[in-house]
Amino acid sequence: MFDPLLICIALLTMLAGMGKRRALWKVGRHENVSGSWAVLVPYLLNHAKILKRPPAGVAHLFLFWGFLFFLLIVIFGQFPLLLPPRPAQVVSLVLDLLGVAMLLGTAGFLARRLRPQEVNPPRRVLLPLATLIVILVTGFLAEGARLAILPPTSFWASPIGWSVSLALPQSPFLMQLMIRVHFFAVLFFIATIPFSSMRHLVAAPLNIFYRSLKPRGELLPVSLEHGPLGATTVRDFSWKELLDAEACVSCKRCDENCPAFLSGKPLSPRNVIQKVLRQMEEGSLRAPAPTPLLAETITAEEIWSCTTCMACVEHCPVLINPMEKIVAVRRSQVLTRGEVPAEARPMIRNLEIYGDTQGNGIAYRGDWVFSRDVPILPSGHWAGEVLLWVGCSGAFHPDYQEVARAMAKILTAGQVRFGILGPQELCCGDPARRMGEEALFLDLARKNIDRLQHYHITRIVALCPHCFNTLRNEYPGLGGHFEVVHAVEFILSLLEQKRIALKYALSGKTAIHDPCYLGRVNQIYEPLRRIVRAIPEIECTELGRTREKGFCCGGGGGRMWLHENLGSRINQLRAQEISEAKVERVVTACPYCLTMLQDGVNSLGVQRPPKVSDIVTMVASSIG
Ligand code: SF4
Ligand code: SF4
Repeated sequence: MFDPLLICIALLTMLAGMGKRRALWKVGRHENVSGSWAVLVPYLLNHAKILKRPPAGVAHLFLFWGFLFFLLIVIFGQFPLLLPPRPAQVVSLVLDLLGVAMLLGTAGFLARRLRPQEVNPPRRVLLPLATLIVILVTGFLAEGARLAILPPTSFWASPIGWSVSLALPQSPFLMQLMIRVHFFAVLFFIATIPFSSMRHLVAAPLNIFYRSLKPRGELLPVSLEHGPLGATTVRDFSWKELLDAEACVSCKRCDENCPAFLSGKPLSPRNVIQKVLRQMEEGSLRAPAPTPLLAETITAEEIWSCTTCMACVEHCPVLINPMEKIVAVRRSQVLTRGEVPAEARPMIRNLEIYGDTQGNGIAYRGDWVFSRDVPILPSGHWAGEVLLWVGCSGAFHPDYQEVARAMAKILTAGQVRFGILGPQELCCGDPARRMGEEALFLDLARKNIDRLQHYHITRIVALCPHCFNTLRNEYPGLGGHFEVVHAVEFILSLLEQKRIALKYALSGKTAIHDPCYLGRVNQIYEPLRRIVRAIPEIECTELGRTREKGFCCGGGGGRMWLHENLGSRINQLRAQEISEAKVERVVTACPYCLTMLQDGVNSLGVQRPPKVSDIVTMVASSIG
């Protein structure tokens, strides 16, 4: 008679606790986000992302399906349905096997948390896992005790229960005792969900349901007029960004793929998320005292170590975006306190005064063009096929000027009617935006959009993945809608249309290095590989960390202009990996990667370091 009352108390405790948790993330700003069952249901059912780390992923799969099946059994058990003997035995068998799988999965998670390298695993993680083990073990004991006092049944319907029954006495008391312990453990588990790591059972699916549908490469916009200017306290995050923190399961997949963390810098994306979570909780305890500043716990070293490579975003199994939290704190430091790292100030000043990162000035922006074959757009209407977006590196960096000239050669060979903006092109604004200088970004972006619209440009080929990402994903939010492709995509289309042909061989084992802003950020992996494979006699190979797992060169997110004096150098780690692959050449498609990897391989101290090439120059050499 008391059981229904106890069940109600457990459920109400759980609901009240979740209500309190909801109040925590609801202190965030309003954000219009629509949920999608079409995203959530397949995500949960196939577990594809979670299974990318096999042992933990498989354990989670067992627990998920086991939990679901047991829940269905409990729900259907409330109705007077009588299954025929054979289906009932099949259900019993499935329950038995799922119980074993769940027990193994839970034991695996518990063992992982108790490894010596896990410093002080928190009680809120250990307690629910221990409770789950009690639930599963007492479930088997209750079943074994039941079978021990019943007439013999077939083994196959309940192999584990049957085996356990052999070791138990015929004792109705023992059976009742196990059932009660099992029942109370289940109630305890349900009631403590909001107060333990198991609240991810609610928060994680909710976070996936409300996952952001904007392009991955687009940073959340800032309103300079209405604020907030980045995130100074957790209240400056939107409720969805705070739900992100609530959903974190501390699995460390973000850390395991973060170049800053792996190179020994004081940045752990997991810690950033956990700090946001703790501040959310502390903020509610402190109320009505002011919410603590994020800068009290998230240090400048942490936020400026990020290369915005999005490895954390790619690998998070519950779709959390630690990178955007880091950029939000950067924005707050830059926009409210003017705290840009000293070594990046000259670059920012160059952007403000000259409109390019090198500070050469727009008058010289077309100087890389040696040939009259590259038309610089005149004023007025332009009826060309594509605009070549050269970028600051292509316009001014000696190595990348070569790449820009090679691209012009390829376009000319393919008889593409193209042009460049020359002195009318400004920096796309990517370094400013990623360094938190939103006002500067908006200024550059709006001027560029005005000029592109003035010439009625509709199609743009961008040389640099950072320009490509900004033009394709961030300009539409400011009214700049253009069809933007990266150079590798355009070159591949020229090859497929047979407008150019790769004739001359380039021998040698060649490894691919995926630029983060092409690969992880915009999911463009294949064109680079297909072009390399199309070059005669070349042997294309992959590095250990490739595609989604590709290791950053260390130059994104404004890091190109910052000193790297904490931990080891990211470009040197990547260069070491390239050297261990025993390749003659590594090919990439980004000016930052080209510079950083060249520096990296030069520092290897070997006699013949691997050559670092841009795919565009290789194609230009091969077309002859
Ligand atoms: S974006 Fe890259 S560098 Fe920044 S925290 Fe994530 S993984 Fe680390
Ligand atoms: S942010 Fe995502 S990947 Fe990182 S620890 Fe949390 S859940 Fe795991």
